Amino acid sequence: MSLKELIKELKLKGIIDERVLRAILKIDRKWFVLDKYENEAYDDYPLSIGFNATISQPFTVAFMLEALELKKGDKVLEIGTGSGYNACLIAEIVKPGIVYTTEIVHELVGFAKENIKKTGLKNIKVLEKDGSEGLGMKFDKIVFTAACEEIPKNLFKNLKKNGILLVPVGRFSQRMLKFKKNKKIEMEDLGSFIFVPIRH
Ligand code: SAH
Repeated sequence: MSLKELIKELKLKGIIDERVLRAILKIDRKWFVLDKYENEAYDDYPLSIGFNATISQPFTVAFMLEALELKKGDKVLEIGTGSGYNACLIAEIVKPGIVYTTEIVHELVGFAKENIKKTGLKNIKVLEKDGSEGLGMKFDKIVFTAACEEIPKNLFKNLKKNGILLVPVGRFSQRMLKFKKNKKIEMEDLGSFIFVPIRH
């Protein structure tokens, strides 16, 4: 499949947000996959990046980007940098806002940094650490790209007013849960997905 065909497929599957589709066209998924998968870079499924990690399925990435309701200027935390692909898509949409992304596997931090360089984006900070405890600052949006067994309630305090936390929760398969911080925390269940588990 070509990148244009992937965009068509994502539209067929229900992705309508033009900013998300434009970012996927611009931030080439080929830059983030292992060389041996180059021919599959635009196919709509996850690909291994080694170390028990994957670059997520494009549909899942697009679905999550839509659910995050990203706006220019947003300050975003991603837990699970992996290849850096999702972080770059977020950075492209929110620039001049900033993306902090954390990764626990040393080798993947290096892999992601190299991949990110190819995009020319400057508004991404990759941190080598367990991101599940937050970073001690507040964000407009927080997104986990690895599964939590329980709702990471400790991160609610790191959300700004009207902030959104998106997290796949569950042991073997996950429910994609979206939390919005208004006067209270509101929760929405966006359906079933499968992610690699968070590590500590
Ligand atoms: N967003 C990635 C896909 C990530 S796969 C992309 O676009 O390619 C999930 C990643 O979360 C893996 O790389 C895994 O190593 C990482 N991870 C697991 N537990 C973590 C933790 N506690 N803190 C930060 N990263 C973690």
